[in-house]
Amino acid sequence: MDSLWDTHVHLDTMPSPAQAARRADQQGVRSWVLVASSPDAYHQQSRLLAQGILSPIRYVRTVGLHPEIVHADGALQALRDIMDRGSVAAIGEIGLPAYRFLTREAFNRNWEWLYIQLSWAEARQLPVVVHAVHAGCEPMLRILEEFPGLRQVVFHWLKAPAEAVQEAASRRYYVGITPDILWRGRDRTLFTQVPPDLVLLETDAPCPHRPHNPRGEPHEIAELVRFLDAFSPLPGGWGELSVLNAQRFFGWAGQ
Ligand SMILES: [Zn+2]
Repeated sequence: MDSLWDTHVHLDTMPSPAQAARRADQQGVRSWVLVASSPDAYHQQSRLLAQGILSPIRYVRTVGLHPEIVHADGALQALRDIMDRGSVAAIGEIGLPAYRFLTREAFNRNWEWLYIQLSWAEARQLPVVVHAVHAGCEPMLRILEEFPGLRQVVFHWLKAPAEAVQEAASRRYYVGITPDILWRGRDRTLFTQVPPDLVLLETDAPCPHRPHNPRGEPHEIAELVRFLDAFSPLPGGWGELSVLNAQRFFGWAGQ
């Protein structure tokens, strides 16, 4: 089997990425999707990558204008400049805010930019990493109806009402499952509503995943796979299927 994937990592906010890479390597989690929440985050990641700190991790990169952030005026153009250089495997994370109150001006601009980014994803046939949780999931599903030509969509670290999860799955959208499932009944219930071939495994590192754990790291994917193999066994195992799903979603173009 290929190395395990962590499909959602924020390299630029990780406190000790080189050590995290070593720990992930020891656990066989050697394929990471580096998600940038803004053009600035993307460039910060580029500086870190140029130092070689992720060796021997392979990675693909995504960038989008995160819906919970008040972006700089030139952020949309800066995003376009990055995409025009052809080095991104997906657009994201983009979506709707759930945790932060934005001013009307910031909210409206992010809303407008969400549509523009979705249209770019459709035109360029790039997958989309979506942040739309809780009450944001349902309106996001409505917005996505306006983009029937999107190649792939993943609702990353999804928490949402059962009907919304079922609708996402029926539309063949992927769902990001995190190590929260090890201890949270809510996430176990959600997981049982998603067909196995639509599951992507992710940590959203450095976001923490269990009570009293200060931060999350990609190596936790190995423990997540062991848990899923016991919780919901598959003939070939969750390691193999989760790798296939990730490769299919992102198209393997790792560096
Ligand atoms: Zn994230």
